[in-house]
Amino acid sequence: MSAPATEGAAATALRSVLTRAQQAAERCGRSPEQVRVVAVSKTKTVSLIRQVYDVGHRCFGENYVQEIVEKAPQLPSDIEWHFIGNLQSNKVKSLLAGVPNLDMVESVDDEKIANHLDRMVASLGRKPLKVLVQVNTSGEESKFGVDPSYCVQLVKHVKLGCPNLIFAGLMTIGMLDYSSTPENFETLSNCRTEVCKELGIPEEQCELSMGMSADFEQAIEMGSTNVRIGSTIFGAREYLKKDKSQ
Ligand SMILES: *Cc1c(COP(=O)(O)O)cnc(C)c1O
Repeated sequence: MSAPATEGAAATALRSVLTRAQQAAERCGRSPEQVRVVAVSKTKTVSLIRQVYDVGHRCFGENYVQEIVEKAPQLPSDIEWHFIGNLQSNKVKSLLAGVPNLDMVESVDDEKIANHLDRMVASLGRKPLKVLVQVNTSGEESKFGVDPSYCVQLVKHVKLGCPNLIFAGLMTIGMLDYSSTPENFETLSNCRTEVCKELGIPEEQCELSMGMSADFEQAIEMGSTNVRIGSTIFGAREYLKKDKSQ
């Protein structure tokens, strides 16, 4: 693939994704402003991200700490970064200190990581940080995401025990192979119903981050407020063997 062809393509692909997301929202009577598109730029170069930024997009997602702290300083500070990967306690400081314009961590899945984030926000003197609680909706054996039955308890901990975090909603990836099914979306939506009831939160104040390249329109129709889209915008990812001490 020649570089110039790839470059023009990302901006065009973004426009098409935005249109499709808007149409999906309209099909189910929702306002397009209620759906955020996170352009997932993992493995992609700063210049490719810049191309999508230059056509007006501001929300980008990364899932490796080492990668986001390398890229963020090379890009404009009005980008709203979402961290969407598994986060280890010992990387929290690099992430928060290295990305002042980090807007949200979508992948809080236990109390320990919530506590680390909470303390580090305070000790760096940052403004409160928005977080989503990641839920394992597949039932597959996986380290990532809380079991739906534990969701309310973790949300409670974030809301009541972490004054420097803002609980903003729930996130799911779906299956281990990064695909999702309508059942996964339904499970996340049911978790929201339960969380909102137990904690007295209006549903509009509890986001649902679900849907990726292959299924984002369906996810929006099932209530997603935040879709995370990588390959459909930036092209297929090539994982090069490189020094990755992540
Ligand atoms: C990579 C990734 C995505 C984007 O996947 P695509 O299928 O390329 O759109 C979404 N969410 C998470 C958590 C990811 O790691």
